[in-house]
Amino acid sequence: MRPAPFSYSKPESLAQALHAIAGGAMPLAGGQSLIQAMRLRTQEPFAVVDINAVHELSDRIEITEHFVEIGALCTHRQLIESEVIRQEFPWLAKAALDLGDVQVRNRGTVLGNVCWADPRANMAVALLASNATISVTGTKTELIPITEFFTGFRATVLGPRLATSIRLIRNSNSIGTYLEFARQRQDLALCNVCVVHDDHGTCVSVGGIHQRPIRLSALERILNDPDSTIRDLHVQIQNTLSKPIFDPIIDHHGEPAYKLHLAAILIERAISACLKGGDRD
Ligand SMILES: Cc1cc2nc3c(=O)[nH]c(=O)nc-3n(C[C@H](O)[C@H](O)[C@H](O)COP(=O)(O)OP(=O)(O)OC[C@H]3O[C@@H](n4cnc5c(N)ncnc54)[C@H](O)[C@@H]3O)c2cc1C
Repeated sequence: MRPAPFSYSKPESLAQALHAIAGGAMPLAGGQSLIQAMRLRTQEPFAVVDINAVHELSDRIEITEHFVEIGALCTHRQLIESEVIRQEFPWLAKAALDLGDVQVRNRGTVLGNVCWADPRANMAVALLASNATISVTGTKTELIPITEFFTGFRATVLGPRLATSIRLIRNSNSIGTYLEFARQRQDLALCNVCVVHDDHGTCVSVGGIHQRPIRLSALERILNDPDSTIRDLHVQIQNTLSKPIFDPIIDHHGEPAYKLHLAAILIERAISACLKGGDRD
């Protein structure tokens, strides 16, 4: 199907891009989610603002002593090829490698995947367990913890603003694993899980069982309790997932109970993979 008519602009400054967004235009980065949605007419923006020529936006991964900053235009491929990501955040490289096919990874941006906020978006789930922070610019610039970024099904706190980068804290003791279950390779996952362990404790995020990617804080509390044992892990995961706190996605890919079952298996596998050293380059 063809998209509904829309106007297109490709400004060179952030101010011009923000002006267009304030006027109702939708940002376009790699177009791997937005163009498909426009062709299916699930999105019908009257205006699209291409952010690829904006001088203030970068495709680079900046490294400082304490942080790694992923620019708004950084593609999945650039993330996979980054030495620092492969060495210090290999679960993010794994999540990016499991996303789409080579063309999609070449065009699609990491931040675009987060802003699309699909409940099963690979990078959203992986960055959620990594305690990333999103830098957002509108009338002012703000750093928003990713735990506060997703508000519902494909919905975020963004409003008429642009996300400009993703910030990660460098921690040489971090270990993490990203796992997903998809019907076939390159498909969007039915369910995906990321577990990250560092000096501050263990974080568990899940996609596919709720309207947005979520952290399982009840399970995290148990995992971070020095008195809990790995023996009752299976029961603890089942207990966490049996609580009526989830607002499931209803689609033709499977019953909510099936997706919770997948989540339980993936979480247990990801935790045991972390205990064995997690994802590695
Ligand atoms: C064949 C195929 C397979 C795929 N498989 C997977 C998969 O397995 N897993 C997965 O997670 N995804 C998958 N995707 C989806 C897709 O690759 C990502 O969601 C995509 O990479 C998003 O990045 P983009 O740069 O293309 O964003 P776009 O499509 O350009 O934008 C996506 C959304 O984010 C907004 N946006 C983009 N950048 C910004 C910004 N800087 N600030 C504010 N808003 C912004 C846009 O307005 C839009 O709403 C697949 C897509 C295709 C076509």
